[in-house]
Amino acid sequence: MPELPEVEVVRAGLEQHVVGRTFVGVDVLHPRAVRSHVGQDLSLLLDAALIRSARRRGKFLWLELSRKIPGTGDQWAEPTEALVVHLGMSGQMLVTEPDAVTSTHLRIRARLSGGVDLNFVDQRTFGRWELVALVDDSHGEYPAGVPASAAHIAQDPLESSFNAQAVAKDIKRRQSPIKQVLLNQEVIAGIGNIYADEALWAAGVRPRRKAAGLSGVGVERIIHAAREVMERALEAGGTSFDVLYVNVNGASGYFSRSLNVYGREGRPCVRCETPIQRVVVGGRSSHFCPECQR
Ligand SMILES: [Zn+2]
Repeated sequence: MPELPEVEVVRAGLEQHVVGRTFVGVDVLHPRAVRSHVGQDLSLLLDAALIRSARRRGKFLWLELSRKIPGTGDQWAEPTEALVVHLGMSGQMLVTEPDAVTSTHLRIRARLSGGVDLNFVDQRTFGRWELVALVDDSHGEYPAGVPASAAHIAQDPLESSFNAQAVAKDIKRRQSPIKQVLLNQEVIAGIGNIYADEALWAAGVRPRRKAAGLSGVGVERIIHAAREVMERALEAGGTSFDVLYVNVNGASGYFSRSLNVYGREGRPCVRCETPIQRVVVGGRSSHFCPECQR
C-alpha cells in the first residue's frame, strides 16, 4: 500500500510530465478501473480536458482539470473538476511514448497531447480513476478547491498551511489511544501504520497512551516526528524524472525504508537494544520500544 511519500513522488512525476497536456482519447481496458462511472464513458468525460495541476492531500491524489470556454478560441475556464487517482494496493501511473505499455495489467490508457500516453497499470485492480467535482478547500491550501470526495480529509503535515498547534489541540481532545488518533484521516492526513509507529518511537510515546492524557508539547513533538520521518522517506526515494517514465508505485518502486520499530518485533531497539514489542491498538499492529517509549 503506498504511503504519503510514495504518493508524493507520483504527484511530482505527474506534475512534471502531464500538467499542461490535454486528453485526446481514453481507452478503458477494465471496467473495475472506472467503477464510479458505471454507464458513463470516461473517454467522453475526459475528452479535451486540460490538466492544470497535480495535487495531493495525505494519500489522496488528483489532477485539476479545466475546459476550454466555447467561442473564445484559446481561453480556459478555471478548474471545476478533478480526476482523482486511487492507487489502491498496486496502482501505477506510467507516462510513456504511445503504446509503450504492453502489460496485461494495463487498465486505462489515456492519450495526451504532445504524443504521450498516461497509463494506469494495476495488478490487483483495487485502484481506479474517478472524475469528481471540486469544492472549496476549507483549509485554504488549494485555491481551485479539493475533490468533493476528499473534502472531509484533514491537512497533512507536509502542506504549507498545516498548523501543527491547531492539530495538536484537536488531537488532545480525543479519548482514543494516540496511535489510533494518528491514523484518523479526519484529524491529520497521510499518516499510515508504518509512519505512526515510527513517529511515536521518535517522540518517545507509547502507542496505547490516551491522546487526551498527553501534553500539548508532547503531541506537537509527535506531529513533528511524523513530518520528519515522512520527509526522510521522501528524500530516500527521491527519484529523478529525467526520462519520460513515471514508475514509482510498482513493487520495485516502493522506497526501501529504514525503519526503527515497524516490523521489528523481538529485535533490539536501535537506540537502547531493548527488544521491540508488538501490541494491537485499534485493530492495528503497533510496534514500540518499552524502554524508549514510556
Ligand atoms: Zn529503545
